[in-house]
Amino acid sequence: PPAEAPVVVIDAHGLPYLDARKPVRQRVADLLGRMTLEEKVGQMTQAERQALAAPGDIATRLLGSLLSGGGSTPTPNTPKAWADMVDGFQLQTRRTRLQIPLLYGVDAVHGHNNVAGATIFPHNAGLGATRDPGLVEQAGEITAREVKATGVPWDFAPCLCVSRDDRWGRAYESFGEDPALVSRMTTIIDGLQKNGVLATAKHYVGDGGTVYGSSTSGDYTIDQGVTRVSRQELESVHLAPFAAAVRRGVGAVMPSFSSVDLGQGPTKMHAHHELITDVLKGRLGFKGFVISDWQAIDQIPGDYPSDVRTSINAGLDMIMVPYAYAEFESTLKAEVEAGRVPMSRVDDAVARILTQKFRLGLFEHPYADRSGLPDVGSAAHRAVARTAAARSQVLLKNDGGLLPLRRDAKVYVAGSNADDLGNQSGGWTITWQGSSGPITTGTTILSAIRSRAASVTWSRDASAPLAGHDVGVVVVGETPYAEGFGDVGRAGRTLDLSAADRAAVDRVCGAMKCVVLVVSGRPMVLGDLSRVTALVASWLPGTEGAGVADPLFGAVPYTGRLPFTWFRTAAQLPINVGDAAYDPLFPYGWGLRTDPGRDRLKALRERLAGGDAAAKGAAAALTVALPERNWDADGTVRDSRVVLGALEAAAALLERSSTDTYRQDDTLASVARDVAQATGRRPDLTARADQELAAGRVRQAVSLLAQAAR
Ligand code: BGC
Repeated sequence: PPAEAPVVVIDAHGLPYLDARKPVRQRVADLLGRMTLEEKVGQMTQAERQALAAPGDIATRLLGSLLSGGGSTPTPNTPKAWADMVDGFQLQTRRTRLQIPLLYGVDAVHGHNNVAGATIFPHNAGLGATRDPGLVEQAGEITAREVKATGVPWDFAPCLCVSRDDRWGRAYESFGEDPALVSRMTTIIDGLQKNGVLATAKHYVGDGGTVYGSSTSGDYTIDQGVTRVSRQELESVHLAPFAAAVRRGVGAVMPSFSSVDLGQGPTKMHAHHELITDVLKGRLGFKGFVISDWQAIDQIPGDYPSDVRTSINAGLDMIMVPYAYAEFESTLKAEVEAGRVPMSRVDDAVARILTQKFRLGLFEHPYADRSGLPDVGSAAHRAVARTAAARSQVLLKNDGGLLPLRRDAKVYVAGSNADDLGNQSGGWTITWQGSSGPITTGTTILSAIRSRAASVTWSRDASAPLAGHDVGVVVVGETPYAEGFGDVGRAGRTLDLSAADRAAVDRVCGAMKCVVLVVSGRPMVLGDLSRVTALVASWLPGTEGAGVADPLFGAVPYTGRLPFTWFRTAAQLPINVGDAAYDPLFPYGWGLRTDPGRDRLKALRERLAGGDAAAKGAAAALTVALPERNWDADGTVRDSRVVLGALEAAAALLERSSTDTYRQDDTLASVARDVAQATGRRPDLTARADQELAAGRVRQAVSLLAQAAR
């Protein structure tokens, strides 16, 4: 405990629920049995820390939870100040009869992003592009360590939205447009929860499927709008990642602000008894608790008592009030006393909440583990974020093999997002909406390029003289936003490049060979690309700009693949893999490699040679593809018939391996994709192949790619 913590001898001392040796179920039952209705209602209440009339309200109102909403930070905004703040609130619970610890929650959606100096990872769109569940789990682990060090045991992450329309202002919070990919990325839950932080799968369900322009008033709306889908589509597209999260034992789920319309008219998700109680808690077997979104119950039609009654009866367990917590408590209490909210429902909600508090060890260790404070934003943590940023880069176009750049190149750098830590981090960074400029500690893309290239000239608007450079790097893209503020149509927001960025691209690419890096939360309308030699989707890479420069200069290869279909024009939206008329600029799953396919196959053959019979057989089949005569000097496949045949044979054999790592190795598909992308005739097939891959069906992926390449 902090030095100033007074020792309080409480009535509860020595009672069974305080005995850590007892099973959680027993502790919950014991504690629940001692609680008054006021104490139970308090556990179901979450206030915003800035809404507290006085810190003492935690004890007098018996609050079970507090949050810092986006940008609600202590002054100064340092890791130590966070730990002091949260411990100070926690201390208040010592004054209550039962001393139930607070569950403090934050949105650490790409690292501990509220805290100055913390490690900031790429937003989920970039993590989806890595296609690497292990790396994503590691990102969760590091986020958990930084969050825990500041005394926070609960994270409102991950967003498991399957974003189906890039006009949505939260598309960047999505791992991708394909449910199988999003489901694979739920490893982030393990990274958080195995390291002592409760994860929240959000926003249940269909947040990424809302219809653009669905407002009855005729305005556009998409964030918090209506998801109009068949039951079958709701289940297969939007529900699937939540089922995966429940299988991983996610401790909390947050319903979506949006409504769902399965044909009978829209119902607010916060009022949806069937989807929350019957499907989530019943069929999927979710054992954690359901936390509302910010003031979301207020959007349910009807007066406040009816909002409270409807949401709790629908299956919500804790309400993010977040301001009028006293009114919420008295209303819920009155509803229970009047018999309109059954006591059994309250007991179930409180038992679910207490179960998580016991599991987290909060009764034994309510305070920040300050031994972790020096690691917040440490070099070791940043190294992982840098790797994640590097693996998230998607090489969309690379004429004449311009990339990787030579380190002795004379580089001319321009564009709005080259030297802007805030822009490369996006929303949910230090403040809710994020902002431009040097908002925290990190490395901009420009400074990372400077530390690599022999000579760098920098001109944001590309106005300086252009002669004497070997290559231009133009870093363009979006400015930060969060939630509905990024919706296309809101405050003039579009998916087009700004006029200044477009002018910089034209000036630089008109004068020299150039690479354009798009730093954005989603695909954008790029306009004429004929003079753009190389093109990279950099997403929102976070604080480690070095990760963007690593593949650019060949320290590591480009390996990322599109998590979203890259459209040609905004008129094509929504556009998703599997659409009947699929005519994208770059299909879902697209991504060029800068390491030769032959080298990748050689390394794979070596790995397989040490495996089971199926793996050994696949290694032998690959031998046919490897002779030099099948490959051109620049690494492209010369005899595609022979190479594709060998890949298909190896994939068929590998399917029978008993080892997951062999069966799920995507090297064969990555080489087949190289061939398919080089011919580029069937984007629908290459996109579908990536879906197969995300679902773990490597052989099917390889055969689709082989078909696309023929
Ligand atoms: C967002 C949630 C977030 C919550 C708490 C809401 O506006 O929709 O994703 O967890 O705020 O900050």
